Amino acid sequence: MFAILSLLPALFCAVSAIDPVLSTCHSIAKALSPASSVYYPGSPHYINDTSHWSSAINQNSTCSVEPGTADDVSRIVNISTPRAQIHTVLTSARQLRIIGTSRIPFAVKGAGHSPNPGFSATKGVQISMVRFSAIAYDNASQTVELGAGLTWEQVYESLEPYGVNVVGGRVATVGVAGLLLGLSYKSNQHGLAMDTVQAFELVLPNGTVTSVTTDDGDLWFGLRVCKIRALTCIISDIRILDSQGGFNNFGIVTKFTMKAFPQTDIWGGYLIVPASEMDALFDAVAKWNIEASDPKAAINTAFIYAEGEVMLYQLLFYDAPTPPDDLFDDFTSIPGANNTATTQSYLSLINSGSSISLNSPRALFQAASVRHFTKANLNIIAAQTKYWGDKLTPQSATSLFNVAETFLPNMFSHSGPSAYPPSRSPTLLPINLYVAWTDPGADKIMHDALATSGKNMTETGEALYTNYALGDVPLKAIYGDNVERLRAIKRRYDPKNVMGLAGGYKF
Ligand SMILES: Cc1cc2nc3c(=O)[nH]c(=O)nc-3n(C[C@H](O)[C@H](O)[C@H](O)COP(=O)(O)OP(=O)(O)OC[C@H]3O[C@@H](n4cnc5c(N)ncnc54)[C@H](O)[C@@H]3O)c2cc1C
Repeated sequence: MFAILSLLPALFCAVSAIDPVLSTCHSIAKALSPASSVYYPGSPHYINDTSHWSSAINQNSTCSVEPGTADDVSRIVNISTPRAQIHTVLTSARQLRIIGTSRIPFAVKGAGHSPNPGFSATKGVQISMVRFSAIAYDNASQTVELGAGLTWEQVYESLEPYGVNVVGGRVATVGVAGLLLGLSYKSNQHGLAMDTVQAFELVLPNGTVTSVTTDDGDLWFGLRVCKIRALTCIISDIRILDSQGGFNNFGIVTKFTMKAFPQTDIWGGYLIVPASEMDALFDAVAKWNIEASDPKAAINTAFIYAEGEVMLYQLLFYDAPTPPDDLFDDFTSIPGANNTATTQSYLSLINSGSSISLNSPRALFQAASVRHFTKANLNIIAAQTKYWGDKLTPQSATSLFNVAETFLPNMFSHSGPSAYPPSRSPTLLPINLYVAWTDPGADKIMHDALATSGKNMTETGEALYTNYALGDVPLKAIYGDNVERLRAIKRRYDPKNVMGLAGGYKF
């Protein structure tokens, strides 16, 4: 018995010698500074690092890594590339046959809220950005530096005492990094969350840590004359590739600097509308789509399937303690509607809408897209909610809803071209389709149902919103005519396709 036990370390070394992923984990552990750590199955850190909002996408990664500095991210990226593998090969002749041709899969996880398989989960090396959690508000420049491992709840909590805010997510637990394309309650005023980013700290696929700013061209010129041309190029390409819908195609972001805006209490909450008043609500939403012009106001309409019925939750939001008189009267005067909208802090509204975070055994999103919400397409959304709710509930669906998100026609005009949307004029209005279920055997049924329902609700030719789309929609359906340009930029900045080892939409 003791003889067998004494052999275990040797056996472990032998396994590690023949498993290139495990061997890479060991190499990473050796290379990292004390600010970072590698974890293995059984460790509580490993469990957190490999857990995702939808447990359906969790994978048994060989190890997880929590880098604590951008330099350590660079070391990890380098170790996963063929160049670093050659180094590993040289250190052990036995590994030559195995590692020489292998490329180690990895995944980058912000807060793990993408429900798409493989987007932030892997059987290889799971990188968790959780240690990038610093928040620094600079009053003088009215900017906020945000670590790429933060959630929006952490951001709003930290900024509340300063009376400022950023354009960010609408659900507390979602990650800053993954959402940054995102749609916000403040988007009518300032555009997509990404339109307000001032700078990125980015680890490029070749391991170079770079700070990219749009504002400091002269400073960059002064500091690194020979690189200015390339950097200008990187700035525009990163805005296109990295987070304006490109996710991890272009490297790993470690820090964002965002514009800060003054934040008072807001007025907002849900109007719960009885099914019998569906017509009145659709009239109000369709009218709002034509007439609304106040950028401080935002609405969205949730169609929630519940026991054979469609329940209607109408979000009303105004970015001030009280909305102008009469602004929401078409909604609040609907007979029998229960109005929960009230004056509260931004954080309190975000937290009240975050219960969805708890309801995610297995879950998927899909996107649909229209130009305007009309009474006709709102009726289609209601019919789709009922149809798929009836059909999927017996297949173990526990929750199903569609949310029609209304924005002003000029919402995309706050910034220039980006990967998504393929065109910034006019605004595309997303519908967020969602289903959660329990039976792993129903995974394909749920996926296919969302794909079909999304098609049924999308106006022909309209681009799908990246943050909601299923993981296997064609790139063209999201990025339209930008796809070729994105592929060309990808070839230029990642010729070895390092980021191809991480999952997600790939150019
Ligand atoms: C409950 C819920 C509410 C949501 N609400 C909104 C909303 O209000 N508005 C909206 O627009 N979207 C919303 N979404 C969609 C959400 O924005 C996306 O799912 C987003 O990708 C989640 O970001 P994350 O960091 O949590 O996810 P992750 O799964 O960790 O990451 C998503 C993708 O980004 C990549 N990524 C993560 N970190 C980095 C990094 N540092 N560098 C490079 N790539 C990185 C990952 O590799 C992955 O491909 C919501 C999703 C959920 C589940």
